[in-house]
Amino acid sequence: MKEVTYSSTRGEGKKYTASMAVLQGLASDGGLFVPDSIPALDKSLKELSEMDYQGLAYEVMKLFLTDYTEDELKKCIAAAYDSKFDTEEIAPLSESCGSYYLELFHGATIAFKDMALSLLPHLMTTAAKKNGLEKEIVILTATSGDTGKAALAGFADVPGTRIVVFYPKSGVSPIQEKQMVTQKGANTMVVGIHGNFDDAQTGVKKIFGDKEFAKELDEKGFVFSSANSINIGRLVPQVCYYVWAYTRLLKEERIKDGDMINVCVPTGNFGNILAAFYAKNMGLPIKKLICASNTNKVLFDFFESGTYDRNREFHVTSSPSMDILISSNLERLIYMIAGNDTKRCAELMGELSGNGKYTISDSEKKGLADFYGGYADEKETSEQISKIYKTSGYVIDTHTAVASYVCDKYKAETGDDTPVVIASTASPYKFTRSVMNSIDPEYDKKTDFELIDDLCKISNVEIPQAIEDIRTAPVLHKTECDIDEMKTVIAGFLK
Ligand SMILES: *Cc1c(COP(=O)(O)O)cnc(C)c1O
Repeated sequence: MKEVTYSSTRGEGKKYTASMAVLQGLASDGGLFVPDSIPALDKSLKELSEMDYQGLAYEVMKLFLTDYTEDELKKCIAAAYDSKFDTEEIAPLSESCGSYYLELFHGATIAFKDMALSLLPHLMTTAAKKNGLEKEIVILTATSGDTGKAALAGFADVPGTRIVVFYPKSGVSPIQEKQMVTQKGANTMVVGIHGNFDDAQTGVKKIFGDKEFAKELDEKGFVFSSANSINIGRLVPQVCYYVWAYTRLLKEERIKDGDMINVCVPTGNFGNILAAFYAKNMGLPIKKLICASNTNKVLFDFFESGTYDRNREFHVTSSPSMDILISSNLERLIYMIAGNDTKRCAELMGELSGNGKYTISDSEKKGLADFYGGYADEKETSEQISKIYKTSGYVIDTHTAVASYVCDKYKAETGDDTPVVIASTASPYKFTRSVMNSIDPEYDKKTDFELIDDLCKISNVEIPQAIEDIRTAPVLHKTECDIDEMKTVIAGFLK
């Protein structure tokens, strides 16, 4: 098998093995690790369609994580995709109103982040062993709501690790917040910051770049890493489920081998849709990548105009995990459309941090031809939930609804009738109030847990364990801080 090495999008110049890139998270020049080439699938889609999720995941990930042995990688996969998921299929595909919903929310925290964050702790502790790292790994994470809980669940009580999660105090759903602040595990810390997700993410990135602080902690036996989707160990597991979705369609004879599909992804930090783009580059027959945004439509504007401009009002929406103005993973796409030119990538990212915007050239824009950008406002999102429920009885969450709306818009606008796989990124139980109010505004009079019981009645979907768990769980984390206090909070936790 061809060895795949990783290097920074900004030209730091060093080459890293996959396990080193997983350990380090972010390159020292602030760039993101990218594979030096994207490997091609080495099994036919027909062969892959005969495998279970774990088997297929191995076949995809072995091509990226080439310095992990077969035994190491298979053990990581077995530990990640086990009975924490409430279905053996791990990511089932459900047809509704002419589209296929790839349900990525059957893991421990009922959002798609579990698909990668169930695996990342295992990839990381294996990497530490392989590379003789004896320090305690401190995971720093900024969350718009779902990453935080999924990372906490993944790392809680994992020996040799600690995890600190920062979330926007007034920017997540009540259930998201309850899930995080009830987290058990002596190695966990959860902090509500007085700011939005971008503030949290920028704060975390700054701490990663703080060499003096890193040295101080190094002396105390700690090393930082990241569980955010900037970590290549988050991205690679996400490639698998697009291959999985294709092979399900093939196995169920809904498509023929080699037929094209489109994918439609509700997007925030651009990690999930980038994974689909990687899958396409591996040879998976994907035609269009439909990138769906909510009212924070910075990506839609970028695909329209070629200008990425974060200087705009920030909106808190009913799909909070997509309330993002700086989509970190877009940097990996920029690197590719600039022809793997690190200097150019660094220049554009410099403009983004300096002026909050950049414009790509016409030839770079041609590299975006596979993407279609769309967005749904709050009313459209809500109406889509209601429409899908009333026509098919299927209940989707607010994030998935954004994608579902944009998907219908794309179909109507282009007449393209290629089968579409919509990434269904959260269980409706995670955003119950918004979902139920969309179906009938009368529901707003009820309490959160009454709504959960009502959702169970109307959807015929069992209440997930993750929700049952928080009904009575005590709040264990009460720390709040200002943006400029994040470092102090971490230092306090690691004392
Ligand atoms: C994180 C998240 C998204 C956005 O995914 P990105 O990879 O950041 O683009 C969408 N929906 C849900 C429910 C999420 O948790």
